[in-house]
Amino acid sequence: MFKKLHYVLITFLLLFSCAVGADNVDYDKELDTIEKSFQTDISLAIEQIDTVLTYESLLTLQQQSRLYGLIGAKFLYLGDFVEADKMLDKALLFNPNGVVLTDIYLLKITVNIALLNYQQAFSLLEENFSRIENYQDNSIKIKSYNRLTNVYLQLGAYDEMLRISQLALNLNQGTDPRNQCFSMLLISVAHLKLQHFDQAETLFTDTQSYCKDHDFPLIEIMSIKGQANVLFDKGLYAEAEPLYLVALERYQKFQFEVEINEIQSYLSSIYFHLGDYQQADMFAQLINALPNKPSNMQVKKRVSEILSLIAGKRGQFDKAYQYQVVASALGQQLLDEQKVKENAYQMARFNSVEKNRENTSLIQDHELLMKQKDLFMKEKSSSIMFSTLLVGLSVGLLLLLISAWMQRNQFMKQAQRDGLTGIFNRRTGQEMAENEFIQAQMLGESFSVLLMDLDLFKNINDQYGHATGDWVLKKVTHVIGEMLKPTHIFTRMGGEEFAIFMPKQTEDIAVDFAEQIRDVIANINTRFSGHDFTVTVSCGVSSVDKDDLSLDPLIRRADLALYKAKHNGRNCVVCYNYTIK
Ligand code: GH3
Ligand code: MG
Ligand code: MG
Repeated sequence: MFKKLHYVLITFLLLFSCAVGADNVDYDKELDTIEKSFQTDISLAIEQIDTVLTYESLLTLQQQSRLYGLIGAKFLYLGDFVEADKMLDKALLFNPNGVVLTDIYLLKITVNIALLNYQQAFSLLEENFSRIENYQDNSIKIKSYNRLTNVYLQLGAYDEMLRISQLALNLNQGTDPRNQCFSMLLISVAHLKLQHFDQAETLFTDTQSYCKDHDFPLIEIMSIKGQANVLFDKGLYAEAEPLYLVALERYQKFQFEVEINEIQSYLSSIYFHLGDYQQADMFAQLINALPNKPSNMQVKKRVSEILSLIAGKRGQFDKAYQYQVVASALGQQLLDEQKVKENAYQMARFNSVEKNRENTSLIQDHELLMKQKDLFMKEKSSSIMFSTLLVGLSVGLLLLLISAWMQRNQFMKQAQRDGLTGIFNRRTGQEMAENEFIQAQMLGESFSVLLMDLDLFKNINDQYGHATGDWVLKKVTHVIGEMLKPTHIFTRMGGEEFAIFMPKQTEDIAVDFAEQIRDVIANINTRFSGHDFTVTVSCGVSSVDKDDLSLDPLIRRADLALYKAKHNGRNCVVCYNYTIK
């Protein structure tokens, strides 16, 4: 999982870029040379740094900053992260700007990652991003994106890694070969991590040839190693071996310890899988002898597992067990480290969300202030214009209010009404009726309920279609609507069932009214629907009883009466008290 921890380191070394100042151009060139040497011959670079240090006082502040940045990079390369961090802090003391400042920031982020100070790394990253946002210089942005990509790599956030590295590649558009080279490598690594093996293999090969052509030998080697990693992950050990050996030889020329160690740990694993236990043991012992420091944890875990397996093969079970214990202890440490990273990541995200929120409200405040200022200016410049503005505003506001009010009414109406017929829906009708009912009960007044259900309505739908059914429902509500008194609450209870709640109306009146409705419905001229048929309705009527505490028993009794009406052959009115009670 942590296979490519050191991509971080190498990326930084190469990311260190050239900044040419107006004065002391010669010294700038010397510093450029050192940067170049970092990519080809580290010991030469160190020698050149020492030389420049002898005439440090002749350099400008910006150049001194660059020099200490390079010294920081040197310690980073040598794995002395604490010293590297000190030198980078010193570089910052010279007040660098532009690309030099960005480089130092990026190096500091790498150092902090290496020191497992993830929180610090994140806040530096954040700081750097907010600083570079205003830059026009794409190459600074690309570098920072590449850095962010490395952080995502550390966190195992490979989808994000792929996204950002592609962004960097798009931004570069092939203009800066150095950035192109890095973005290509990072995209390849992201694909490898996401186990897109075929894509990763092709991309590593492309990266190798591009970086070779543009003279970035270290990235070229990394791409070779990347191809080996793909083969290793696919379990093609015999094919991975020669590539690892090529990469190893070339890294040795650079004395790139971290990479060398990793390749040796892979080789140990490969030889074990190929049955060459002697070679496997040899490479594993090399790694096992390394000091116990965080950057060696992953490789030491890998070879401890191999050493355990080899001991097992040789029948040395005690030894096998001991190596296994070491491997799992290291594994646990790595896991803990991952948790720390995840926490730092979450924390950083949280902080950044908070910051964004703060920024947004600041921006809003600012906009408000500007608007107020604007208004104030207008007011001052012309009082006529101001009054016009005010009148205009008031009229506009009034119109806005009217339309909002109308809209609100419309919404309220829509929420209360049945969509097809436009009369009250069940919830609203019953609620209104309930209020009336309570009043009627308090005053000792009568209250009647009339329930109606269209007869054999399903047949109408079946014979003439749903649209005709709808036509009937609308027609029925229309004709009933014309017969209603203002106090009547006409409600669609559902489907083809309706209710009329009749406050203050006695049972006799309700039955009489039901009969009228039944008659009117039976005489509906249906030809306008395009068909010729008869519509009839069955009605159930009930009235309030002094023991009724709510509307429910009334409705229930009306329902029983309606049921009876259907039972009696439909197209009739049944009153609960007359017939059933
Ligand atoms: P009954 O005399 O026993 O009441 O018989 P019915 O066919 O009227 O009763 P049933 O409950 O079997 O059928 C009611 C039908 O009403 C079924 C349903 O598809 C139809 N229906 C309900 N709502 C609508 C509507 O909004 N539009 C139309 N076209 N049909 C509806
Ligand atoms: Mg029906
Ligand atoms: Mg029904």
